[in-house]
Amino acid sequence: MAHRVSNFRKHYSDRQSNLRVLVDMDGVLCDFELYLLESYKQKYPNEPCIELQDREGFWVKDQYEKLKEGLGANCVNVHNCKGFFKNLPEIPGSIEAVKELSQMENVDVFLCTSPLNYYKYCMQEKYAWVEKHLGKNWLEKIIITKDKTVVNGHVLIDDKPNITGAMLQPSWEHIVFTSCHNTGTNLHGKRRLDNWTDGTWRDLIEEFKKRVG
Ligand SMILES: [Mg+2]
Repeated sequence: MAHRVSNFRKHYSDRQSNLRVLVDMDGVLCDFELYLLESYKQKYPNEPCIELQDREGFWVKDQYEKLKEGLGANCVNVHNCKGFFKNLPEIPGSIEAVKELSQMENVDVFLCTSPLNYYKYCMQEKYAWVEKHLGKNWLEKIIITKDKTVVNGHVLIDDKPNITGAMLQPSWEHIVFTSCHNTGTNLHGKRRLDNWTDGTWRDLIEEFKKRVG
């Protein structure tokens, strides 16, 4: 164990000037919204649902509850089920992109994710998801936190439009990853990354690398 720790330190100590990129999981790497909708329709075929193009606001359960009392609890039942987080599909291109990102010179990538308070399956399954889609090495890059503002980094790519916590001025710049729930949201000047497939993420990273280097 001691040997592993010292290797880990050495790996990072040589690269203090690297760009540290924090990448959120749900809504950025994993398609939480799509899978929730599909699973919801299967579990509650006779209840109304909200198609992705009609999603508004970060908390899916709140919008369902407004649609009809009790539906918010249904949403929670869906995502609290065993297997939900493990089986999330990838956001198109996300795996390939973060793998490429991690290979870029002078860049360190970390996965920065906030688990549900109902952690019975979610926590373990997030690890399983990372191992399945990205490989064992990536398990060392997972940062689990309910407060991302205290995590140190240069960039945070996250679909939640408003990230708050103990630090009023986090070290990172928040790049909002476009998701069905935030397309109409006022980002108050924050920039977006719309997808992993059109290559614009590379320009964004290159721009940040210049700032850090
Ligand atoms: Mg997210």
